[in-house]
Amino acid sequence: MADKDSKSFINALKTGDRSLMDRIPKADVHSHAALGGDFNRWVKKEGLDLKEGTHSFPDFTVFQDLVDNIFTYPYGTPSSQQQISRFLSLYGATYENAIAHGVSYIEPGYDSPLLDHFNGDIKAMVRVLKEQMDSYSQQITIRPDIGIIRVFERKDIEHTIYPCIESGIFNALDIFADERHGPPEDFVDVFKAAKKAGMKLKAHAGELLDANYVRRSVELLDLDELQHGIAAAQSTEVMKFLVDRNIRLNICPSSNVQLCTTESYAAHPLRILMDNGVKCCINSDDAIIFGQSCSDEYFNLYQTGLYSAEELDQLRLNGFPQGR
Ligand SMILES: [Zn+2]
Repeated sequence: MADKDSKSFINALKTGDRSLMDRIPKADVHSHAALGGDFNRWVKKEGLDLKEGTHSFPDFTVFQDLVDNIFTYPYGTPSSQQQISRFLSLYGATYENAIAHGVSYIEPGYDSPLLDHFNGDIKAMVRVLKEQMDSYSQQITIRPDIGIIRVFERKDIEHTIYPCIESGIFNALDIFADERHGPPEDFVDVFKAAKKAGMKLKAHAGELLDANYVRRSVELLDLDELQHGIAAAQSTEVMKFLVDRNIRLNICPSSNVQLCTTESYAAHPLRILMDNGVKCCINSDDAIIFGQSCSDEYFNLYQTGLYSAEELDQLRLNGFPQGR
């Protein structure tokens, strides 16, 4: 089902016209709010002498170290005020980078421990975030997620996640970071509370673990969407389960390639998922680390020769709420 921009999108892909591609409306529904910027532009603006990563992270801890550095350099341990300023600068970089590449709809993921830097004052946090989001509202539609960092102890997240859910500012709940920690069983009641509050339910699953873990996460947490979810491609049964429940996979090809969960864009399980009728869309995850914009993501897939321009256009449309 094409829209008024489909013709231009297809034309941009076929001719390699990046500037045209950057002007075509796109959605990014899997983008971590503090990690969506353009690295070089952000570093220059902040006057930091940080070095860009290698764009290959066979070891997840190297990726995590780079993220920590972006959050805290050069302070080591920043004060809450320094940390809030750093995050606001990174969030701003995410919005500017998205707008520069034609993203007109974004679901940025904020992290619930942010509330600790506001000393638990949810009203103050909401005011600051809302003011920043409002400043971009003419150029981009923003529907923020709130995320649970699953490597944290359950008891250490409760005081931040419930006020975030109750605040009403967040569109969806997500759970992220290394999925070998924090099993879905630990978060069933938090997800129930979010559902009761009318929020959409997402979770990172099937990035590092297998198809059964994907299914277990969907069933236990009553998920609406999966962040990644690509391990579902290992099982026709799990893919059918996702199709039956109309679960969309919010896929980030460059993230999967650079974190070595897939060998290359050509080897990415997206093709298998699509061939089995699973609804997917294309997103950037952590553009400040991976160095690939939403526009780049479509070109990278097109260049494999495995996807027609029309199929990629359908993936683009799938990202928008009305495309579901
Ligand atoms: Zn992610």
